[in-house]
Amino acid sequence: VGNFSYTRPDDLKSLLAVKARGKEKALILAGGSNLIVYIKDRLIREGTIVDISAIDELAGIRLESGRVEIGANESITDIVESPLIREHVPFLSESLGQFANPLIRNMSTIGGNIADASPIADAAPLLLVLDARVEIVSAAGRRALPLEEFFISPRKTRLKAEEVITAFSFPLPERGRGKFIKLGLRRGTACAVTSVAVWLAAAEGKVEDIRIALGGVAPRPIRARKTEDLFRGQELTEARIAELATALNREAEISPIDDVRGSAGYRRAVSVKLLARAVRLCAGMEE
Ligand SMILES: Cc1cc2nc3c(=O)[nH]c(=O)nc-3n(C[C@H](O)[C@H](O)[C@H](O)COP(=O)(O)OP(=O)(O)OC[C@H]3O[C@@H](n4cnc5c(N)ncnc54)[C@H](O)[C@@H]3O)c2cc1C
Repeated sequence: VGNFSYTRPDDLKSLLAVKARGKEKALILAGGSNLIVYIKDRLIREGTIVDISAIDELAGIRLESGRVEIGANESITDIVESPLIREHVPFLSESLGQFANPLIRNMSTIGGNIADASPIADAAPLLLVLDARVEIVSAAGRRALPLEEFFISPRKTRLKAEEVITAFSFPLPERGRGKFIKLGLRRGTACAVTSVAVWLAAAEGKVEDIRIALGGVAPRPIRARKTEDLFRGQELTEARIAELATALNREAEISPIDDVRGSAGYRRAVSVKLLARAVRLCAGMEE
């Protein structure tokens, strides 16, 4: 298929040395569910496949000083089944249950899902409404970046060629409730056409705080900041929610395209409906 070599470093230091030398030619292999497809499709034709599955520093799900930290190599299944996530962030385990099918969930890591930067990556809107940060390391040192700033366009991120994602971290949500709605073309293994995640904190029938993220409606997963601002302080009635959700289009926050899974117009209409529904679900107005 091409000109490849393979290495499996057994600690982070060795991985960073390989990355510092190989840069973009050092191809990180986590679960491989995307990378192997790219190699088979000849989108990538050469390089050193760097298998990161043995690296302990990229594993683990922890709660430390009020922040939840999920190692980049944790699989989607690990997160769905994690007692810590189930207890403290049930929104995340429930939502990731909609990811592909059990086989792909077992293979796929959260690091691979985010690093791949697909506009329809399921973990992206979830981590965006949790206000997550990407923890990054290279031989030169560590840095962290808000997830919102990490994505550029499909398969393009702010990660430098010599860098690796170690983990994602976010503040333990104290108030509120989250919901994720993923619209696929069919049930079961299907990529999202459009997806919406909402985190809502409400009091006395009004929005105290809200975070909204969408997939499949822009070149990257996005936070809908202007729409969030309009929702804040507003009454949670059916009519008001439906009206506010139209801000996604009015404020030009989304810029969907036509593709094999749906037209831009369809995505616009459906995003507004999904947002309104997610808000109603968070507010307990719908089961
Ligand atoms: C049949 C099928 C169904 C799918 N369904 C879904 C779905 O429902 N929802 C969804 O979101 N996705 C889906 N996907 C896409 C894919 O499974 C996910 O994006 C998955 O999370 C990728 O993780 P991985 O560990 O397999 O990544 P890999 O393929 O190993 O890596 C993906 C990319 O990320 C890079 N990378 C991986 N880890 C790191 C790291 N720690 N630091 C820096 N770069 C890194 C790799 O170099 C590569 O470029 C599906 C794929 C298939 C084949």
